[in-house]
Amino acid sequence: MKFVRRFLIFYFLLFVCCTVFSQPFTHADTLRGSNGEYRDWWNVLRYDISIKPDIINKTIEGKTTISFEALKDNSSIMQIDLQDPLVIDSAVFNDFLINDSLNIKRLLLTVLIPKDVAPIAFKKEGNSYKLNLGWKCHSKGNSYSITIYYHGKPIEAVKPPWDGGFVWKKDKQSRPWISVASQGIGASVWYPCKDYQGDEPDDGASLTITVPDTLIAVANGRLVDTANNNDGTKSYKWEVKAPINNYDIIPYIGKYVPFGEIYKGENGNLTMDYWVLDYNLEKAKKQFKDATRMMKAFEYWFGPYPFYEDGYKLVDAPYLGMENQSATAYGNGYKNGYYGEDLSHSGWGMKFDFIIVHESGHEWFGNNITSKDIADMWIHEGFTTYSEELFTEYYYGKEAGNDYVIGQRQNIENKKNIITPYGVNKEPEDNDMYYKAANMIHTIRQVINNDSLFRQILRGLNKTFYHQTVTTKQIEDYISSKSKINFSKVFDQYLRTIQVPTLEYKIDGYKLSYRWTNCVSGFNLPLKINFKGERWIKPTESWQTLNLYPEGDTKFSIDRNFYINTKKVD
Ligand SMILES: [Zn+2]
Repeated sequence: MKFVRRFLIFYFLLFVCCTVFSQPFTHADTLRGSNGEYRDWWNVLRYDISIKPDIINKTIEGKTTISFEALKDNSSIMQIDLQDPLVIDSAVFNDFLINDSLNIKRLLLTVLIPKDVAPIAFKKEGNSYKLNLGWKCHSKGNSYSITIYYHGKPIEAVKPPWDGGFVWKKDKQSRPWISVASQGIGASVWYPCKDYQGDEPDDGASLTITVPDTLIAVANGRLVDTANNNDGTKSYKWEVKAPINNYDIIPYIGKYVPFGEIYKGENGNLTMDYWVLDYNLEKAKKQFKDATRMMKAFEYWFGPYPFYEDGYKLVDAPYLGMENQSATAYGNGYKNGYYGEDLSHSGWGMKFDFIIVHESGHEWFGNNITSKDIADMWIHEGFTTYSEELFTEYYYGKEAGNDYVIGQRQNIENKKNIITPYGVNKEPEDNDMYYKAANMIHTIRQVINNDSLFRQILRGLNKTFYHQTVTTKQIEDYISSKSKINFSKVFDQYLRTIQVPTLEYKIDGYKLSYRWTNCVSGFNLPLKINFKGERWIKPTESWQTLNLYPEGDTKFSIDRNFYINTKKVD
């Protein structure tokens, strides 16, 4: 018995040590990054957000109504995320006022419930608040709403869009130009929400922005209401009907002017509207021609634009760009390439405006299909980076597209796995979710070896997972099942290791021997070689041979479209 106890203590300590030393993640990371017990019982139906920025003091005042459906009975504690230094003042759940007035020092939230029932206090833990909704929220299937009032000085973005927060800028004429970048840091940097990618508001969202009446406010979707407040301010209410990622909901405030067009797309008339600073109007009318070019190419490859009801928009932004759904942020300086540079090093990247193409590509991969966990962000960035290839191919031909994606290999780092740990709000740090994932997709396309099927798969993904959140496994399984080729080892290799598979080969007389090395066990990527024409080999980790005789010529090459290494051995 004693031995058993000692044994157990030993393993318990071992477990604790392993957990502590191998996992640099905190409880706060888990609260934020996982669908925990205070989140999984309620499904967000809608966000209605109102904010009033104070431009001089760089503060905001706001309220957010979260409509939700209870998914379980007898759950009442709700996790709401709002990042310091913003402060929740009070909350109203259906008819009950929840506020912190009783215990503001300890940052406790207290439910004020009728007469004879004692108040229930709940604490703030880092950037999460646990609100107790009392006994009311017990019925699975019922819908409720909670309105949260908050204020404060939100985190200011230092280098948007890479680090997030409020962007308080001035335009070239020294007039206020304000927006938010929140991907990565999370939407809770400026409004209270369930800051988790796996739960999008099924019925969309509205954003009402109150600004000095000399400025215009733009946001996602359509302008549904404006109001003059007779105090020198004006309110603009914008609304999306489709589900939307929290981080995509973004206000833009400035001296905007609109122009637009109707695009005849696969699902009929699509409004394409452009909101730019007044002095950019003429430049925009030229540069934004890439928007309809993009739409044409991407509807061809990916299927209908996923948000016809909410329309497509490009909005001048005080930072480089961001895929803010139906209000894409544009800040590429009205230049082709990526702020005048070709990230593909192939020359083709200078033929189009990178930000218009890339950020709009996210409307399909990122906004239509969203990863539940940010560890799976390659689904957004890999496919969207590949959309640049597909755009290039659509207008300049297949070899141009190949040059483009192959050129991007120079940007691959292979220092960290593309997929990061799940459940801890950990997104990939380096660029491999872009360029390496795009090259993996390109490699898979070679194996499918049937462009019309490949296109059907891209369109099928957007149809099957329309307005949904997904896991990597769902994407892997879909591609394997539709292509009837099991790509699981290929996904493992590129997404879950940093090894570039290497084809070792030797030539002995007329005999070519080859095998895979530097790969996951069971790696089985078929390979196209050019040897007196096209020929396929199916290397494994064991040596195999191919008789080059009677062709007599031992010169062969491996198709450049496969992202692999080769090594000749003796
Ligand atoms: Zn992107």
